Amino acid sequence: MRFAILGDIHANLHALHAVLADATEQEVTQHICMGDIVGYCAYPKECVNIIRELDCPAVRGNHDEQVSKEITQAGLNPLAEKALNWTRDQLNPDEMQWLRELRMQRLVRDFTIVHATLDTPHKWGYVNTELDAAANFSYQRTGICFIGHTHVPVAYMKEGDFRTIPLDILPIDPNQKYLINVGSVGQPRDLDWRAAYCIYDTERHEVELRRVEYDLRSAQAAILAAGLPEKLATRLEKGR
Ligand code: ZN
Repeated sequence: MRFAILGDIHANLHALHAVLADATEQEVTQHICMGDIVGYCAYPKECVNIIRELDCPAVRGNHDEQVSKEITQAGLNPLAEKALNWTRDQLNPDEMQWLRELRMQRLVRDFTIVHATLDTPHKWGYVNTELDAAANFSYQRTGICFIGHTHVPVAYMKEGDFRTIPLDILPIDPNQKYLINVGSVGQPRDLDWRAAYCIYDTERHEVELRRVEYDLRSAQAAILAAGLPEKLATRLEKGR
């Protein structure tokens, strides 16, 4: 099987369309959604409905959780609160409930998916270092665990010690453990503006990081037209 593993779409419909077209070209057989379907960009409803129609295994992200709550948590900055309320207004009760009922983590075939970390998924911690990866590995029962959340594609390998390894095309050794961040479809933060996702080929035993160009200008124009903060549009072209 060839899995297209899509993380942090963040309501960027233009990026999602480009990634799905690339996945079809790459003869992907199934999709996986790593959460944070909504937040930041201008098409939360459309992105939720595309993922629902794919009927694929999906997990909950922190933005999915925030948006689907009835009340906003105290202490959010005004820009974040404005974007959150705007997103809520776009979704109907059925879409909100679907987001609310997404599971925190799932086992798919022989791998695990979770948005943030396996050690404390509800706390939405970030895996930014090998030390963070080590904490996750002690809860990881499968050879591969896919994560998202930081919007930075990276792979860690547990081979005696923990180390960061290149992800362009990563051969999978069945006797090792891997923690793989698939990057972000809708708002990459590794200084590359192109949409990121991974393909996991279970027969060839490899994970490939794909980068896909999309209609950035239209995505930015839609953010501004929706009245969302301008910074959400400018950061897309910087990839940060
Ligand atoms: Zn995110």
